Amino acid sequence: MSLKIINPATGRVIESIPTDTPKTVAKAFSDACEAQRDWASRPLRERLATIQSFRDGIEHYSEELAHVLTREVGKPIAQARNELAGLLPRLDFFLKEAPRALRDETVLNAPKSGVVERITREPLGVIANISAWNYPYFVGSNVFVPALLAGNAVLYKPSEYATRTGLCITRLLHESGVPEPVFAPLIGTGDVGAALLAQPVDGVFFTGSQVTGRKIARRVAGRLIKVQLELGGKDPVYICDDVDVNAAASAVADGAFYNTGQSCCSVERLYVHASIFDSFVEAFVESVAKFKVGDPEDESTYIGPLTRREQLEVLEAQIADAKAKGARVLLGGARFKSGPLKRGHYFQPTVLVNVKATMKVMREETFGPVIGVMPVRDDAEAIERMNATSYGLTAGVYTPERKRAEAILRHVQAGSAYWNCCDRVSPRLPWSGVKDSGMGLTLSREGIQTFTRPKAWHLRQP
Ligand code: NAD
Repeated sequence: MSLKIINPATGRVIESIPTDTPKTVAKAFSDACEAQRDWASRPLRERLATIQSFRDGIEHYSEELAHVLTREVGKPIAQARNELAGLLPRLDFFLKEAPRALRDETVLNAPKSGVVERITREPLGVIANISAWNYPYFVGSNVFVPALLAGNAVLYKPSEYATRTGLCITRLLHESGVPEPVFAPLIGTGDVGAALLAQPVDGVFFTGSQVTGRKIARRVAGRLIKVQLELGGKDPVYICDDVDVNAAASAVADGAFYNTGQSCCSVERLYVHASIFDSFVEAFVESVAKFKVGDPEDESTYIGPLTRREQLEVLEAQIADAKAKGARVLLGGARFKSGPLKRGHYFQPTVLVNVKATMKVMREETFGPVIGVMPVRDDAEAIERMNATSYGLTAGVYTPERKRAEAILRHVQAGSAYWNCCDRVSPRLPWSGVKDSGMGLTLSREGIQTFTRPKAWHLRQP
């Protein structure tokens, strides 16, 4: 069997890559089990050295890697470069924080009773890392880097839409000194992911859609192993009445349309205080209309094609549903049906008003360059509307008043709360979702410790 890699900008096949089978997946698992023990027994400084070398490799080959990413995912080249550049401080964080996060800790040392209490951290073992395509370097490394540092072996299933990038990551890790069975790529579609879950892995770390996340949770529920799910979002931003309208409009347009709207934390719902609604919408549409749509290999392109052709139909269905329920299209509203963009998976940047909470475009993840904007009369209504979704990944508030923003954000159900920013991830902070946005977390100190099992030592000197 082989997997066809398609360039979303042209719809043409770039390459066919042989896929794994249940048999090769089982072999990768048994090899990983054997190799993991040796990997875990090495001193942490050796594992840190391999990740340092991986980091240097990313920096060295970043231009080549950016082009591979752009060709298979359709990410505009400037944004592919940004992802690789942004990976470096993330890796630096892991390198600096891992010794602190993984060290043994004495929590009681009572000379009188002779009792010592200690915590040590053991790796989980062999883990499954099933990944998404939209930020393959970020979402992949959030898992495999701390997992490897903690002494786990990783069976890595890159998305079928970012397979070549997955293979680049694999090559760089192996060249950096990670033994081949300790980090093994498994190539293919969801079937290969399912074959991986058929193995008795010690943990499952998944990034992807809510629908697949639920399937995976059901598949492994009986096994009593750690399962983390980083899923989608329908992330809201509320624009208060006291903002600088032009600045807020341009910042939020970027948060909604960057990466062609294909970020888990893209802004997908916009609530604007009624007193500034008209002027905000005018400035917002002006900002979005300036985005250059085109060939992702062109340096000046801001919006590229959608990675997956089927997503075009999802966007069309959301817009049709919205129009049928009374929405008005202020910009865009359809795929490109003529001209040079017709062959690729391009969709016009789209802004909708007169939207209602019952419309799919305000309820279901869009994952494309489409957004609905709705007026709200006050902060209380904004909170209610922001929470009116099954998702809870991020939420943002724009206002010069920090107190006001914090008072609102305290009531919003989301893993990340933003004041005057959006679509932002920091390695120092935990990345998690509530409700259908997932369970578990990556990044931050806890996002390293999550790849370990704490062992409690009760030691009594006789
Ligand atoms: P997806 O769910 O279609 O696929 C994710 C991965 O799961 C792929 O590698 C796929 O091959 C695999 N898979 C599919 N079916 C499977 C099965 N039955 N068993 C095992 N594995 C299976 O998601 P996607 O399209 O790759 O990614 C987009 C989604 O990911 C969006 O919903 C986005 O919001 C979400 N996402 C979330 C985060 C986050 O941090 N919360 C980050 C990035 C993307």
